[in-house]
Amino acid sequence: MTGPLRVLLVELVPHEPERVNRSQAYPALAGLGAALGWKTWWRVLGVRYEPTLRYALEPRDLARLLAETRRLKPRVIVINERLRREQRAALARAGAPARVVYCPLESAEDFAGLPDFVRRALQRTRAPLLDDPRLLDRLRPRFRRARLNRAPWLSRPFVRVPAGAYCSYRTRTADNPHYRGLGPPAEFLSCSFCGSGPSARPRRPPLSDPQAFVRRHVEAACRARRAGDGPIRFELSGSESWRRLETLVAALTRGGVRDAELLFMPRVDELLAARAAVERSLPRLAGAGLALRLYGMGVENFSPAENLRFNKGVSAEQVHAAVAIMTDMQTRWPGTFHPPPGGLSMILFTPWTAPEDLRINAENIERCPMIDRSFALSRRLQLFPGRPIALLAERDGLLATGRDDHFYNAGCMTEAGQDELPWRFRHPEVAVLWRLARRLSCDAERLPSADPETRALRPFLSGPSRRPPDPLPLFRRALETITRHPTTGSLFALLERMRS
Ligand code: SF4
Repeated sequence: MTGPLRVLLVELVPHEPERVNRSQAYPALAGLGAALGWKTWWRVLGVRYEPTLRYALEPRDLARLLAETRRLKPRVIVINERLRREQRAALARAGAPARVVYCPLESAEDFAGLPDFVRRALQRTRAPLLDDPRLLDRLRPRFRRARLNRAPWLSRPFVRVPAGAYCSYRTRTADNPHYRGLGPPAEFLSCSFCGSGPSARPRRPPLSDPQAFVRRHVEAACRARRAGDGPIRFELSGSESWRRLETLVAALTRGGVRDAELLFMPRVDELLAARAAVERSLPRLAGAGLALRLYGMGVENFSPAENLRFNKGVSAEQVHAAVAIMTDMQTRWPGTFHPPPGGLSMILFTPWTAPEDLRINAENIERCPMIDRSFALSRRLQLFPGRPIALLAERDGLLATGRDDHFYNAGCMTEAGQDELPWRFRHPEVAVLWRLARRLSCDAERLPSADPETRALRPFLSGPSRRPPDPLPLFRRALETITRHPTTGSLFALLERMRS
């Protein structure tokens, strides 16, 4: 087929908005397509979040997507999430035939690779525009997208706009005794478990004016809003957007942006530092019918020993201060200020966790109204190759050869096929407490219904539910019991001791 390049952008939108969804580059791709004379369509399908990150569309959704593909006859289909192999092949055939390419671009740093991605996967003929070093500053984003199904979460459009560096938190490696001299020399260290810190994203974001980039995106998405759409939620990722919150809000409201939610993911210390700017921005946001929502904020761990290993750099007192501020703002600005919807996240269990760490955490969780206790008990560290904390576990002999629990993704796995390194607990009694915590937590539903340890737990639960509404008191009782009897070797033995 000759004529303009025909490109279909397919966006799978998971029902959990914080989960991976690499559609950040779609507005730029659609804008680029307009500049280069392509025929471009953007279609959206709501899907249930799939922790393995290999999506299999429901038969009805697959049929809709195939029908649309046959109708539009694209030569290239760009998709933001991995599809199971047979569905991907069916999609390629429906394009008669089309190349199906996965779009990996997510952060502003990744956008440095946009021209290469386009040359490799889409337009293989030469296009001088792609050589323009200010390409992203010049592009006009486009937001014309159509839904292919009626997933309820699609009625509140979600738009991700990366701007500036994703994360700017880093400390000097030499300042942390755990990492000084460990692994390949590195001057700086981010959170040791995370793959998103600046040390893991060495490329410079290719934007000379990130704030203008955000404004162009937000204004273009608002212009493309359709009747019946709820408020658009903009996830403004990147620490720079947060640091310039006040000027950004002023510019957006001046530009006439209305009826939208602005989502930010600051660290706890970044929220504390920006308190005055948030206070000054709230009246302006309220006046324009805008809201500010925080999301994805992590405590990780209240124990100073665990936190030092994480190199998190946030203390328990900072967390409590931030929670007090958020509670106060929410009370004074209901409808305008929203704290993180699921509360603050934690990584409660690690290979090094000692009973004392769990005691410190239990005390602080009790003090903190923004921690979902059931969720916190379900969280353990995931180790990924090459990350500083994985090197530390290896050095301490805490990597294991096999794993004995079911597939687990705390949201830290962001690539299909990414595999975590199995590890073991240094303190065997904590391994027993982890087995209990998982069964008391919201993760209990993922365990087989015939799980014998869950059955053994039942006499401790009142009512028919498989888990208590507040699991912390029972967990604390177990912690006290095991502290008195540290050689307790199994969950059955622990429960037996708690009964007697
Ligand atoms: S956990 Fe957050 S603050 Fe820490 S390195 Fe990752 S993105 Fe940055």
